[in-house]
Amino acid sequence: MKSFATASAPKRSRASKSEERRNVIILGSTGSIGVNALKVVTQLGERCHVVGLSAYGNCARLLEQIRVYHPEVVAVWKKEDAAHIRSLNIKVRGRALIVLEGLDGLVEMAAWPTANFVLSSVVGAIGLKPLMAALRAGRTVALANKEALIMAGSLVLAEAKRWNSTLLPVDSEHSAIFQCLQGNKSGVKQLILTASGGPFYRSQKPLAHVSVQEALAHPTWKMGRKITIDSATLMNKGLETIEAAILFDMPIDKVNVVIHPQSIVHSLVDFLDGAMLAQLSWPDMCLPIQYAMTYPERYQGTLPSLDLVKAQKLEFFEPDFRRFPCLSIARDAARRGGAYPAVMSAANEVAVQAFLNEQIKLSDIPKIIEKTLTRFSPSTRTTLSVVLAADTWARQMAKEFL
Ligand code: MG
Repeated sequence: MKSFATASAPKRSRASKSEERRNVIILGSTGSIGVNALKVVTQLGERCHVVGLSAYGNCARLLEQIRVYHPEVVAVWKKEDAAHIRSLNIKVRGRALIVLEGLDGLVEMAAWPTANFVLSSVVGAIGLKPLMAALRAGRTVALANKEALIMAGSLVLAEAKRWNSTLLPVDSEHSAIFQCLQGNKSGVKQLILTASGGPFYRSQKPLAHVSVQEALAHPTWKMGRKITIDSATLMNKGLETIEAAILFDMPIDKVNVVIHPQSIVHSLVDFLDGAMLAQLSWPDMCLPIQYAMTYPERYQGTLPSLDLVKAQKLEFFEPDFRRFPCLSIARDAARRGGAYPAVMSAANEVAVQAFLNEQIKLSDIPKIIEKTLTRFSPSTRTTLSVVLAADTWARQMAKEFL
């Protein structure tokens, strides 16, 4: 097994602190990961400098972030938002703030010449083109946007290798595995991802009868809406299983899931000699974000040390594949390979949005995904255009099943 980040990891030199400074672009700075990333930037002080920020719809929060972090460039999704920000004539260090818009704006900002580090924390397939652009520009990319990797894993890794760019995980589970693998590159038997189980793991309530409000109430993590619903169906863990198989170059059957309601053990690596390594901390995304930003060094963070006595109980259970079919659906899609994971992820995005709009029940989400997958006729090739076409097709098909 190879570790994905070692092939192209930055050469450690005796460079001064300023040369090592991360000049950061945050794609999706107003979301939950983006907001935590800016906390980390503040915590890291001189080691980090914000170059660019982007927002999908939360213009007010973006303006607040511009005032605090003084980026030279921002990207927003909507034309009206771009026009509004331009009309404010914001100056940063004497120069006019550059305002980009739409997907093209996001792609341009991802390869911004004065940056050396891109955190991609946009949600969904939208993140794929900016991710590719950042890798092509040779940037170190911290990836929180798992959907892009699930759509086009092999293409993403090939691009990183080709341009000698480094890809670092931000998802807490993958960061945990990455941390456990430092200095332990061989002899891996299996990877074990922990899952909190979401809000319904221990409740008896049928998943057909849960409300949007109940599904959005995650017991341990405070996250965005899409990922919170994915956690309630366990699709998040299904996506993460595929993500781990891609990032750590492991067969999907050697990536397993265990339910761990306390969210203290973030994931584990089981080695051939019987050793098992885990990474533990209080559940807080600032830690994996900071590890990606300072890798391979560690610095003072925002989290208190884990108090094992206070944490008290660490429990582990087998996942319930029958009640949460998304876990098996994801494994099957990964085994089939090609554009199947892209189709699955796109159908899931459509179904989750429909659930949030109260058009369907939570238990309809796996049904819609399965129906879409059944109708899919795969291409023999896996190229970026094939994957993007599969994504578009799956969205249309899934909408028909709503
Ligand atoms: Mg995760």
